[in-house]
Amino acid sequence: MTRTDRVFQLVGSCNNYPWGKQGEKSLAVQLHKKTDPNFEIKNDEFYSELWFGDYPDFPARVLETGELLQDVLQKHKDELLGKKVIEELGGQLPFLPKILSIAKALPLQIHPNKELAAKLHKEDPENFTDPNHKPEIAVALSKFEVFAGWKPLEEVQLLFKRLGVLRQFVPAGIEDWSELTLREVTRSLLQADEKTVKSVEEALAKASKEELGKQTYILDLLPRLQDQYGATDNGSLVALLCMNFLVLDAGDAIYIPADGIHAYLSGDIVECMARSNNVLNAGFCPPADRNNIDMFADTLTFKPSTRSKDSVILPSQDQGKVKIYKPPMSEFDMLRLSLFQGEGEDIEAHRGPGVMIITHGNGTMLADGKTFRLKEGSIFFVAPGVKVRIDSPGGLEAHMAVVA
Ligand SMILES: [Zn+2]
Repeated sequence: MTRTDRVFQLVGSCNNYPWGKQGEKSLAVQLHKKTDPNFEIKNDEFYSELWFGDYPDFPARVLETGELLQDVLQKHKDELLGKKVIEELGGQLPFLPKILSIAKALPLQIHPNKELAAKLHKEDPENFTDPNHKPEIAVALSKFEVFAGWKPLEEVQLLFKRLGVLRQFVPAGIEDWSELTLREVTRSLLQADEKTVKSVEEALAKASKEELGKQTYILDLLPRLQDQYGATDNGSLVALLCMNFLVLDAGDAIYIPADGIHAYLSGDIVECMARSNNVLNAGFCPPADRNNIDMFADTLTFKPSTRSKDSVILPSQDQGKVKIYKPPMSEFDMLRLSLFQGEGEDIEAHRGPGVMIITHGNGTMLADGKTFRLKEGSIFFVAPGVKVRIDSPGGLEAHMAVVA
């Protein structure tokens, strides 16, 4: 790579969390192998995520030279990161893009706000590896099932009124629920011992359709979650009783704010987050992997943006053949380009860097005076101020995180 290259191809890194899809079934590793043909996919291994940012845990490299993306960006900050990122966003790639292939529930989690993240990083840098917040978006590549945010209060309250076994979790003397009630109920559900969780799940499995009202989907999901994490995992109770359950189609997106509760359940997605790896876990993982439950419960947000299915969905704006998802925060936007056979589209220059992955199909890209071949799985870095033209004879879909 010469000093002046402003567009270049990357190769990402895969990881192996136990919730990932197995062997060839994982889209994350399939896409990875197209860029790294020597990568050997093992059929008994789980491939959960493909990361392609400059974060040190699973870093991307420049395909041609093997250099770490992080090193190249730091060497050529002005050309590759640009003024806005250097002056306002910390002088590193401010977002972290990933492909996730999910076979079973990820840990029930939140990503702490900036203030708490900075405090945790100071006290325990081994487990909290940066001081940043991590709001995130997920764009579905296929059917995507997810628990995210809270059901409307009245729905949760009704359930806890109708099912006698749940009353033990409600603070005494409460008639009308507030956000505070939901916080305390969530805390009690997460702190319940295994015996209690088991007996509540047994009662829940026998609940009648009248008792569950429009929440009868709980009867289908409970055995699935028990199959994945046993009958004593506190996460199942919080997810089923208190959280929204959503089923998204390809192209739909959700936004998870700082401190927003979520647990992805199944599907393939493009995920992008602020440059951070901080997480607090409270369920769908071994008890030893859970963080302090009081800290988790005290940090949870109940803002209106987390309180109903519709408010969790992130709308997109159309611009030609590009859909733009703008999470309500400053670090990045996500673009989704869809081209049918024979179509082409320009992607305007941005003020900061962009990272693009071809999630389907193939084509060509004209950028920075050069022509690049695009195929499924290809990942490209695009510097600030570079306009991109993409054409596809057979159809193509690409996702690109950018600093707008
Ligand atoms: Zn998350």
